[in-house]
Amino acid sequence: MIIKNSEYAVSAVREDQYPKDDFPEIALAGRSNVGKSSLINTILNRKNLARTSSQPGKTQTLNFYRVNEDFYLVDVPGYGYAKVSQKKRQEFGEMIQDYLETRANLKGLIILIDSRHEPTQDDIAMYSYAQYLDLPILVVCTKIDKIKKSQVNKVYSNLKKHLDLDHDNITVLTFSSVTKFHVEEVRNWIEDHLE
Ligand code: GDP
Repeated sequence: MIIKNSEYAVSAVREDQYPKDDFPEIALAGRSNVGKSSLINTILNRKNLARTSSQPGKTQTLNFYRVNEDFYLVDVPGYGYAKVSQKKRQEFGEMIQDYLETRANLKGLIILIDSRHEPTQDDIAMYSYAQYLDLPILVVCTKIDKIKKSQVNKVYSNLKKHLDLDHDNITVLTFSSVTKFHVEEVRNWIEDHLE
């Protein structure tokens, strides 16, 4: 897929704030610091469209980026903030659930997991939830440049230990925003799921 243009469109915390132009949407989720902003910027050939290293505790919103005047990438705020209160966590969970459960435009979910670690409880919960919703899932193992070639198999076996990957609508890719490894494959997965 060729990226012709991209722009920040809107931030939303509830349904009446979602875009109204009826384009398909692909959402991205992952724990904070997993490399989600970097992946969005890399995929879209932008340096700073999605903010990197955003601060925990600031207002958490769904951020919609319009791409090629054709579809949206939806940045779901990073989960797994230890410092946020129980109440905030609950509101945050509800915002994400409302979006994932009710949004007809949503065509697929990219779940980012850090290649250096086994999936966390939050990763496993997000993955199981997306499976339950029957969404096509792309699991992206981020920061693969930090993994020695000889250890890449371990990244896959760590995933398989915790996630039930054996389904038609599940794809797994390793990825690096530093080397741009598999950037085209991620773009193609997005393109293939816009219908
Ligand atoms: P976010 O919180 O998920 O949006 O994560 P960021 O994109 O802000 O990245 C968190 C940190 O990881 C930053 O210091 C990035 O520079 C770094 N990072 C992100 N992607 C990669 C990658 O592919 N390789 C390496 N080595 N570092 C990365």
